[in-house]
Amino acid sequence: MRCPECGYEDSKVIDSRPTENKIRRRRECLKCKCRFTTYEIIENIPLVVIKKDHSIEPFDRQKLIDRLLRATIKRPIQLETVENMVDEIVNELKNSLQREVTSDKIGEMVLHKLKNIDHVAYIRFASVYRDFNDIDSFMKIITELSEEEK
Ligand SMILES: [Zn+2]
Repeated sequence: MRCPECGYEDSKVIDSRPTENKIRRRRECLKCKCRFTTYEIIENIPLVVIKKDHSIEPFDRQKLIDRLLRATIKRPIQLETVENMVDEIVNELKNSLQREVTSDKIGEMVLHKLKNIDHVAYIRFASVYRDFNDIDSFMKIITELSEEEK
């Protein structure tokens, strides 16, 4: 990012904040110390997901929607609700300026939202995503939910 005053090529970022689809950065020229503002469009920067086996894949909105639809099957949840949930998660991730996110983190974000929407779907999603393989895991999450309802 070239300095508008002296043309020097190196600057340091002193402040970054996301705005709608953009990151506003305050920069300081390393040579003349003048400060200037740049805007970077973040809309099309791909999000990368780090999976449990440490492999990396591009974030796939449709894939997450499909997983959620499996968890919400036969529940009173509209497709629109699921899509909104996924879009909210995508926006939160973009606004946090993270480019890489673990599948765990995404799973937790989904659970956080599902918890307020439908407990059956919440338990289903948790059981797949947290790899429940015994009754105790189910008991634990159900106990947690009923404790919170009190
Ligand atoms: Zn300068």
